Amino acid sequence: MKETRKGMLLVISGPSGAGKGTLVAKLLEKDPSFCFSVSVTTRGRRENEIEDVHYHFISDEEYDKLLAEDAFIEHASVHGHRYGTLKSEVYDRMEKGQNVLLDIDPQGAREVMSKEKDCVSVFILPPSYHDLRVRLHTRNTENEEEIQRRLNNARGEIRQADRYRYLIVNDNLELAFEQLVAIVRAEKQNTVRYFPVIEE
Ligand code: 5GP
Repeated sequence: MKETRKGMLLVISGPSGAGKGTLVAKLLEKDPSFCFSVSVTTRGRRENEIEDVHYHFISDEEYDKLLAEDAFIEHASVHGHRYGTLKSEVYDRMEKGQNVLLDIDPQGAREVMSKEKDCVSVFILPPSYHDLRVRLHTRNTENEEEIQRRLNNARGEIRQADRYRYLIVNDNLELAFEQLVAIVRAEKQNTVRYFPVIEE
């Protein structure tokens, strides 16, 4: 049997501290059909981050230039910094049948959902606000002011979670990952991207 597949555009959002990063990293590790769309950002690099792997870290001037060139599928200001998804990270790969994963905020996700109707959107919820606060404090990557800003933003983001096609409550990492894998497995068979040719 011959088959062709169109690449899946998987959009994952969720408030900082909901465990989205861990789920994204696990999916990329376990499912080689996915590649990660490396975003550009004007925020500074954290110690554990690698240039061109986690982000393309760029200046405000470079960001403005990309905007003027219409290089973005979507872009947004998040927690006071600018982020954008490059068309060059996404469309060529999808044409070749590769699946592409976007880890982006809800403003950007909304833009992608309106442009790419077949994208698969997933929102990761924390089990509680208390849990979110604890996780943000224990990961120790933001200062107190940044944590407060992220917690405030989280409430607004969670209110809009029903715009996504799927929701996962990350109460237990293994279970949450199983749910993500189940979504991906089903969506790979979706007729919008899967075209098996049945021979005589
Ligand atoms: P962080 O600074 O913690 O890496 O990311 C902050 C937020 O920005 C996260 O919610 C992340 O998903 C989002 N983000 C990362 N890249 C992009 C992007 O290209 N576009 C948009 N809209 N959001 C992004």
